[in-house]
Amino acid sequence: MSKKPNTPEEHCSFCGRPASQAGLLLAGLSGYICHDCSREAEKIFHQNAPQSTKFDISGIELPRPADIKAFLDQYVIGQDAAKRVLSVAVYNHYKRLRYNQQHADAGDVEIEKSNIVMVGETGTGKTLLARTIARLLKVPFCIADATTLTEAGYVGDDVENVLVRLLQAADYDVAAAERGIVFIDEIDKIARKSENPSITRDVSGEGVQQALLKLLEGADVNVPPEGGRKHPEQKLIKINTRNILFVCGGAFDGIERAIAARLNSNVIGFKGDETRATLDRENMLQYVQPMDLKKFGLIPELVGRFPVLTYLQPLDREALRRILTEPKNALVRQYKELFHMDGVTLDFEPEALDLVVDRAVEFHLGARGLRSIMEGVMTDIMFDLPAMQQGSTYTVGADLVKQKLAH
Ligand code: ADP
Repeated sequence: MSKKPNTPEEHCSFCGRPASQAGLLLAGLSGYICHDCSREAEKIFHQNAPQSTKFDISGIELPRPADIKAFLDQYVIGQDAAKRVLSVAVYNHYKRLRYNQQHADAGDVEIEKSNIVMVGETGTGKTLLARTIARLLKVPFCIADATTLTEAGYVGDDVENVLVRLLQAADYDVAAAERGIVFIDEIDKIARKSENPSITRDVSGEGVQQALLKLLEGADVNVPPEGGRKHPEQKLIKINTRNILFVCGGAFDGIERAIAARLNSNVIGFKGDETRATLDRENMLQYVQPMDLKKFGLIPELVGRFPVLTYLQPLDREALRRILTEPKNALVRQYKELFHMDGVTLDFEPEALDLVVDRAVEFHLGARGLRSIMEGVMTDIMFDLPAMQQGSTYTVGADLVKQKLAH
């Protein structure tokens, strides 16, 4: 293809427009193409692309749940219950895809998917788990935020746009996207405001839940390939969501009260006191049941589409301390690497890290607080870093941290 300036008599061989209207024309052996036509052609190629081999799982060895969990362990501290559930879910997802591919004939048992909800305070690792799973996966994966969604026709994103992200993650390979995994964050933010169906329209709550239902249960959904609103002249791509696995996460602030109320009313009477005594009051989330999600404001139909429900523990002091140093991309490792690039070895006194953890516990932001606290401690040191002597060692001491955290 040549990029030399076009002459006035050259026309796009597809739409017929001259270079003066169509802009740059690329020359082929016996014709020209303009930018608009080349984009149109690209879209058509995408829509008609054969099944990609990039996401083909038919030949790969399936990772066992224990392998998946071991992989998650490298990045995420604790949260064993959620890791086990996710590992099994991903394993089954692969198996289901393979089985349904091999047993496409009518009459065979059809293995249905098990969408998942993860309940856990902010900063306990829900998104991290989803992101880590994504690193491992051989299927397309995307993360969407439920708070940006609104019912079709209102300001905000249509629910179908979740699938656009997946399609983009699959390089516009529809067949691959149809086998992908979608993580929807902050699902609790689309809870309806009261437990009774609303009289007024609730376009970012119940309306979105209704729209999500369609995606979750498996339907043909038409999506605009580049996202945004649908409009009549737009070419839409049809995606079937039957085999797409949905994993949702939410903090469900205050759901503990609903759990406690349910448990208290259940345990009245015979053996009640015994059961009540064995309850772990500090971590009520572990007893979460689908009816608690309903009480919180998810519509029953939606709750019914999430057969797997799991929880993340609040992070205690010990977990936060481990998060600072142990995961593969732990904060301390990241700072060490930054210093290493300037030829300086970075060290932390253990007491210095303990102080950072103490402050994070006060913040109640889970591991999310660790980063901002560390930045507060490290910024001035990093300002002076380039001037430090190559080959030297810098040790962050407890006194320094105390001083930085004093105000
Ligand atoms: P949320 O539960 O709100 O989705 P995130 O997964 O986004 O929380 O966590 C915020 C940050 O805190 C992550 O980027 C990660 O660095 C850290 N973090 C949270 N939980 C863990 C955990 N269990 N193990 C390791 N790091 C964690």
